[in-house]
Amino acid sequence: MEAAPSARIALSARALSLKPSATVAVTSRALELRRAGADVLSLSVGEPDFETPPHIKAAGIAAIEAGYTRYTPVNGLPELREAVSAKFARENGLEYAPGDVTVTSGGKQAIFNALLALLNPGDEVLIPAPYWVSYPEMVALTGAVPVPVPTRAEAGFVLDPEEVAARVTPRTRLIVLNSPGNPTGAVFPAGVLEAVADLARRHDLCLLSDEIYEHLTYDAEHVSPARFAPERTLTVNGASKAYAMTGWRIGYAGGPREWIAAMNALQSQSTTGACTVSQHAALAALTDHGATAHFVAGARTAYRERRDFLVAGLNALGLPTPTPQGAFYVLPDTTRLHPDDLEASHLLLERGGLAVVPGTDFGAPGRVRLSYAAGLDTLAEALRRIRRVLD
Ligand code: GLU
Repeated sequence: MEAAPSARIALSARALSLKPSATVAVTSRALELRRAGADVLSLSVGEPDFETPPHIKAAGIAAIEAGYTRYTPVNGLPELREAVSAKFARENGLEYAPGDVTVTSGGKQAIFNALLALLNPGDEVLIPAPYWVSYPEMVALTGAVPVPVPTRAEAGFVLDPEEVAARVTPRTRLIVLNSPGNPTGAVFPAGVLEAVADLARRHDLCLLSDEIYEHLTYDAEHVSPARFAPERTLTVNGASKAYAMTGWRIGYAGGPREWIAAMNALQSQSTTGACTVSQHAALAALTDHGATAHFVAGARTAYRERRDFLVAGLNALGLPTPTPQGAFYVLPDTTRLHPDDLEASHLLLERGGLAVVPGTDFGAPGRVRLSYAAGLDTLAEALRRIRRVLD
């Protein structure tokens, strides 16, 4: 088909400066190649390979049958906000009243709303690196400036509060925390989070804590930084990773009242609210505790086994790979394959038929990200493909 006719559309400076999401781009490219008949294995996107558990699917179907097909309040179904509020209290020791909770179309929209509600052009936002590709881009879209805070592989990519302190300026407004982290799998200990919270209080900064991988920890305990600075911390989470619900698009956040209210105002002028059917499904995930806990525990056991298998396999191939404590990604050093990670990913895709995400967009040059949200057979085949390219 020919391209649609187009006047020369001059796009906004904002659109022109935006880098499309590398995680989404590589995954789309892999799908395209596969559709064209190529034998491509994709470990690019961070998406559970499990199906949404049956009790959650059933709640979504029942919601459609019962006619729950209209708008909900902008900030989400009251029952769901109550369930989220109870979840924050039960699992995180956080007191957010249902009115201080908002439901969004995926965790990404909660983060977007939060940044737009808080930041002015020129504000600085501290982001531990390596970081998820979307944080700096979302910050830049608001006109604020992302400032990476480096972490070291030898320290398990755990944030050093001194490194944060060294980058605080009079323009700093926010610190982003993501533990367990994408793409590092680092889980920040309570002491680190408390030190960052103290720093935030001293300099009157806000914290945005993205806890979407909360349930996927293997050797360390997840702690919410809002425990140490509830008055200035927004806690973001969602249904996608823990309950294998990526396509349902349900995220949520709890936080200081003014911040949440501004996020709701933004949402009222954009999406109007998250999908009603998905909200009913998420309600089942958060209230049918037995069935949900059973699913989460099973998934965690599977991920841990896959992590151990993949980390051992990559190290055996001579690609140094730290053992992540959480989430479902590994970040091997691929300089042996090619000094430039974009080239290394290209080689893996074109010669090995394996899609991975280059580390540069995560602030991790010389590394690539592989997701182990895939079966052991798939991971074994991925290792064979990497070996073939190395050979
Ligand atoms: N967060 C996941 C990832 O990093 C899903 C895709 C995205 O939104 O980036 O792969």
